[in-house]
Amino acid sequence: MPPLDRSDPTSPTSGNAQAAGGCSVGFPVPEGPHGRAPTMCPAFGALRVGLRMRRTASVLCGSACCVYGLSFTSHFYGARRTIGYVPFTSETLVTGKLFEDLREAVHELADPGRYDALVVTNLCVPSAAGVPLRLLPRNINGVRIIALDVPGFGVGTHAEAKDRLAGAMLRYARSEAEMGPVMAPRGGPSDKPTVTLMGEMFPADPMTIGAMLAPMGLAVGPVVPTREWRELYAALDCAVAAAIHPFYVESIREFQHAGRPVIGSAPVGYDGTAAWLAAVGKACGIAPDYVAAAQNAILPGVKAALAKAPIRGRITLSGYEGSELLVARLLIESGAEIPYVSTALPRTPWSDEDRIWLEERGVTVAFRAPLEQDIGAVEAFQPDLAVGTTPVVQAAKERAIPALYFTNLISARPLMGPAGAGSLAQVVNAAIANKGRFEAMKSFFSGVGSGDVAGVWSEAPRCRSGQKEAS
Ligand code: SF4
Repeated sequence: MPPLDRSDPTSPTSGNAQAAGGCSVGFPVPEGPHGRAPTMCPAFGALRVGLRMRRTASVLCGSACCVYGLSFTSHFYGARRTIGYVPFTSETLVTGKLFEDLREAVHELADPGRYDALVVTNLCVPSAAGVPLRLLPRNINGVRIIALDVPGFGVGTHAEAKDRLAGAMLRYARSEAEMGPVMAPRGGPSDKPTVTLMGEMFPADPMTIGAMLAPMGLAVGPVVPTREWRELYAALDCAVAAAIHPFYVESIREFQHAGRPVIGSAPVGYDGTAAWLAAVGKACGIAPDYVAAAQNAILPGVKAALAKAPIRGRITLSGYEGSELLVARLLIESGAEIPYVSTALPRTPWSDEDRIWLEERGVTVAFRAPLEQDIGAVEAFQPDLAVGTTPVVQAAKERAIPALYFTNLISARPLMGPAGAGSLAQVVNAAIANKGRFEAMKSFFSGVGSGDVAGVWSEAPRCRSGQKEAS
């Protein structure tokens, strides 16, 4: 691995955009058709959150092909729940009959014996046509109706759609709590002030965080998106809300309306854990001695775990989960060199702390990064490992660079505390060690062509006279 020369003004990490190729990220970005951050169909995010909740029904309204794709993917990921579907035709769409069909469907489904809530989601076509879900009843026989427009042209990523549904549910629950007593969480209310966590994480991570908070007399509260309606009240009733994933802006707004302080970042690695515990202590008015006790109880274990599982190599990192900056911090503290980290999510005030920490260590941090830019980073930095979305992984492997899919192989691991400090090393080091196999494969397949001239296609398609190149 040749070292990067960060003093060279044309080095990709020098920040000298003009010298390095006229691009604001400091390296040449290949042209391509995407031009926006990668995402699955955004509605998938909201659908997944609804399908995971107990006593919650999900109904989609959209084109049959979209609903087929969404239900296929949901069941591929183990939803094991029925997805309701209200189909439409051109006639029912333009005459308003579709709205009547939707109203009939929710009335039929709203059985309080089976459901606490019913989530009705407009996909692209009914959203664009303005099918007015907001006119559906708010409550039928005690079943809450949550109506949501999640079109691909209006919501940036599927991750943000999770926040859209979580925020809508918190808003509803907050209005209920303001009107009178609400249900306690399963197992009763906590006897300590709690910290609500925002963002999906490895199932053991909230328990690890709970152990970290104990010396400060705090407990971990529910994780948003919640798994049950009654958890929403407990989530709102926290001492502080922690935006572990910093793009949960609609949920954050509800915590702020409920008068709760919100903090960013997460207890990852040594620096991150120390700073996060300090921020929790400050937000909850905990005496410095107790904050120090919490830090002293956990930090030596984190340091030892980092030292025991070193990572050596240059890694580029991109994804659309919202935890990319946290993973980059952990990798750097494990010894990796990270020249570039990108996320499909937007920058928010709650990502600033992680962004600044990374930038201070020479990392180029990119928000809303398009696919072409992520591939440009792989080209520019020639990493030992590219962690990214599926097309980035494919592009890296074509270049004989080992690559890992962020969503399934990295973000689904513990990240917090000592468990997080050691969890990435095994998979990352094993992938880096595969370089030789990739080179052997590349040489085996050399000469078979690529792109338009791969395999049996020996000639690139040419425009016939009079035809225009597709734009
Ligand atoms: S058209 Fe819209 S609803 Fe359908 S799959 Fe694409 S983004 Fe999703």
